[in-house]
Amino acid sequence: MHEGELMRSKLVIGNWKMNGDQATINGLIADLSKTEVSRLSELVVCPPFLYLQQVGNSLSQSAVKLGAQNVCQFSNGAYTGEVSASMLKDLGCEYVLVGHSERRHVFGESSQQVFDKASQLIEAGLVPVVCVGETLSERESGITEKSVAEQLSFFLTEQGVAVLEKCVLAYEPVWAIGTGLSATPGQAQDVHRFMREHIGSRVAGVSARLQILYGGSVKAGNAAELFAMPDIDGGLIGGASLVAKEFLAIAEAAGSYKAT
Ligand code: PEP
Repeated sequence: MHEGELMRSKLVIGNWKMNGDQATINGLIADLSKTEVSRLSELVVCPPFLYLQQVGNSLSQSAVKLGAQNVCQFSNGAYTGEVSASMLKDLGCEYVLVGHSERRHVFGESSQQVFDKASQLIEAGLVPVVCVGETLSERESGITEKSVAEQLSFFLTEQGVAVLEKCVLAYEPVWAIGTGLSATPGQAQDVHRFMREHIGSRVAGVSARLQILYGGSVKAGNAAELFAMPDIDGGLIGGASLVAKEFLAIAEAAGSYKAT
């Protein structure tokens, strides 16, 4: 085990996306709130904005933490329909996803916006989970590393590094999200190692400490071998996080959950 690995705990985050209603969410959190999370790792769920308070209240006595799926890049004011970082903090969120591929590709979010959102979150005392990943055509054209490096570029400027230091990163190949087609542990590890080395070549000291999660069709059946890779520090889980048994099995593979 390398020194950096020893410094990094595992983290598993469930992204519920735009799924569920009050009844199904109550059922899911009833199962999750029984969870005993080990101190060596963390478990987080990101419900839709509307249900943050409901989920936050229900999980307040449990070790499962609250996260959100998005945030506005501005701090407050006349931005109809948006939700600010300070509002998320107010509701008890600790982690917030930014730059998820669905935000980038369906809603046209730019890497500049992703950086601005992460900056807002840091100012509010929240941890941004910055998602990056290549499309299938980028992978097939052999430009996976170039694509990932471009998405990280705002975080590697002089001003950006101060933000990056406080972020968690998530490598999520776009072709693996919601498709059932996970990257192999080797494919994922190659990109995670590249990200760590690329960041390390620009800024000393940060990269060994950075948690880099893998996301893209992680399931109970493939989580353990992905999380065993030296540069993979846990997972960002979509579909499988909607089924308590499956999500907890993934958390167990990361060492963040002990069946009671
Ligand atoms: C995600 O939404 O971040 C994700 C990885 O989804 P899935 O696990 O369903 O591929």
